[in-house]
Amino acid sequence: MNTTQHPQPRTALFAGSFDPFTVGHQSIVDRGLEIFDRIVIGIGVNAGKKGWLPVADRKRAIEQLYAGNPRVKVIEFDCLTTEAARREGARFLLRGVRSVADFEYERTLADINRNLSGIESVLIYALPCYASVSSSVVRELASYGADISSYLPSIPGKPDR
Ligand code: ADP
Repeated sequence: MNTTQHPQPRTALFAGSFDPFTVGHQSIVDRGLEIFDRIVIGIGVNAGKKGWLPVADRKRAIEQLYAGNPRVKVIEFDCLTTEAARREGARFLLRGVRSVADFEYERTLADINRNLSGIESVLIYALPCYASVSSSVVRELASYGADISSYLPSIPGKPDR
């Protein structure tokens, strides 16, 4: 990258519920770091929805995962995604695409967000090995007591599951 033309770091906001943050999300962040200087992981908080894991737990788990990586920051936000991006100085939204269904949804979101603030969305295809991983499947499995550890990132420095 020509830093003389882009003195400001290229920052992307990766927004989602991350309830929980999965290996699929981790893969998008890790690959996004090849494109962007900084990634802000934004946990969208909806006052009306409680969620499965408390937001503070989701945030702590993601922070532990990227502890020591100054290029990754984790925030909570309860405003429009475009507003959260503006506050964080992010000129791009990072998203992952697993399927045609995701693609249609993401296209609508990208259009709405571009119309709202001119922000561009950058979509990365899921790796085939993660294309069937979703937070909702993890929650469903957990509700039946199944082992979900293979869907969750390993925290560096912690013994593997
Ligand atoms: P939301 O609740 O807004 O759908 P998620 O936390 O489920 O948010 O996902 C945030 C982003 O991560 C979305 O762009 C979604 O498509 C992407 N994503 C989720 N799971 C995966 C996966 N397994 N591989 C790649 N991208 C994914």
